[in-house]
Amino acid sequence: MTLPPHTRPTAHPTASPSHPAGRQPRIAVVGGSLTGPTVALLLLHAGFDQVAVFEAAPATAPLAGGLIGLEHPALDILDRLGINQSEVVAHDSETICQITVRDRRPAHTVRRVYPGRNTTWTLLHAALTARIPEAVLHTNRRVTGLATDRGQPLLHFTDGRTELADLVVFADGRTSIGRRLLDPFRRLRYAGYVAHRGHAPAPHEPLRDFVRLEPGPGCQYTVAPIPGGLDWTFYLDASPTDYTRRFGAPPERRMFALPQHVSPAARAHVDDHAARLLPAVHAATVHATTARMAVPVMDIDPPTRMLWPVGRGWAVLLGDALAPVRPHTARGANNGIEQAAGLATALTQHRRWAADLAAALHAGQHRHLPAAVTAVHRGPAIGARLGLGAAHRG
Ligand SMILES: Cc1cc2nc3c(=O)[nH]c(=O)nc-3n(C[C@H](O)[C@H](O)[C@H](O)COP(=O)(O)OP(=O)(O)OC[C@H]3O[C@@H](n4cnc5c(N)ncnc54)[C@H](O)[C@@H]3O)c2cc1C
Repeated sequence: MTLPPHTRPTAHPTASPSHPAGRQPRIAVVGGSLTGPTVALLLLHAGFDQVAVFEAAPATAPLAGGLIGLEHPALDILDRLGINQSEVVAHDSETICQITVRDRRPAHTVRRVYPGRNTTWTLLHAALTARIPEAVLHTNRRVTGLATDRGQPLLHFTDGRTELADLVVFADGRTSIGRRLLDPFRRLRYAGYVAHRGHAPAPHEPLRDFVRLEPGPGCQYTVAPIPGGLDWTFYLDASPTDYTRRFGAPPERRMFALPQHVSPAARAHVDDHAARLLPAVHAATVHATTARMAVPVMDIDPPTRMLWPVGRGWAVLLGDALAPVRPHTARGANNGIEQAAGLATALTQHRRWAADLAAALHAGQHRHLPAAVTAVHRGPAIGARLGLGAAHRG
């Protein structure tokens, strides 16, 4: 009989609970942005009391930026955490307005209904972390390594301290130390274009919906209302040399260009393209924006696993740590939240009903990998349709 992959026996020698009877498993979550706090809260709700979140930043900083579209499954998981939609959804439009632009004028408009709602990183992060007890969330703790101590996973930190765990959840984003340690051959590759991003002051004429403009090959612009103004993203090609010149370091090193990294040359590049390609009202939004950031669009090989045995314990990659996907897919945060719920389900079944831990974890991996793989493949297909990064591909 051939067993489905998730039920195959693992090479793990002691796949069943490694913690002594009565003791709860120690779960260390690395990363305190969106995926990490979600998994930590789900576990706390399920009754796990040995959960710790380690976040590198002194106070979690908005690296991934502004607007985030969440689909119904992710919104439902937030509901279960008691996060009312009114807390994270400031504008409840479900409309995506897609406009083909020719000579800076709207040529063709298609309206679609988004099966979800838009939030922002700031709202969602605040809602999640406000619910995490102080004793669980440890900021200013950067993980540098993973080893074992007498068979138990052991995290190393920049401050020289260590932490033992039974399960390590790496939710540490696209530059993940977890991925580098567990899956070192999956390296990020620059896709040849940049998501320039800005928060503009509120316009005179209020905007209600998510608007996507396609002015032609090598460019896409999106804009939507957020509390206090507008969040826009302008995708434009850039060679690695141009990226380095505009943001002070190569794309592989500067994966988030924060406002202080945005040079006058980068601003001028974006302003110039806005003036040449976008309808006047949208160009004016870009020109009026002082707070700017940028993210180089990166690709990665699709993951083949998200789970690794480490001594008698386990390590898991979730969210962008597992598979950072291109922003146009609007799947990164969705994937992370859905994977977090899958992991919490497996651990809860193990703890509450003595389900075999290895089987439960592998089944979760089997359920959640396909969505991550699909999103990894979808990004380059969308980029190619938009003619983005074409020069880089050669
Ligand atoms: C322009 C743009 C638009 C997007 N739109 C959408 C969208 O509409 N829908 C959607 O679902 N997704 C969207 N995304 C993707 C989404 O923002 C990310 O997928 C999401 O933020 C990933 O969350 P995460 O918690 O997995 O990782 P991150 O948000 O990257 O967080 C990782 C955290 O780990 C911490 N960390 C890193 N290294 C260490 C370490 N060694 N030790 C301790 N802590 C560490 C970091 O400081 C950070 O806080 C978009 C992204 C961009 C750039």
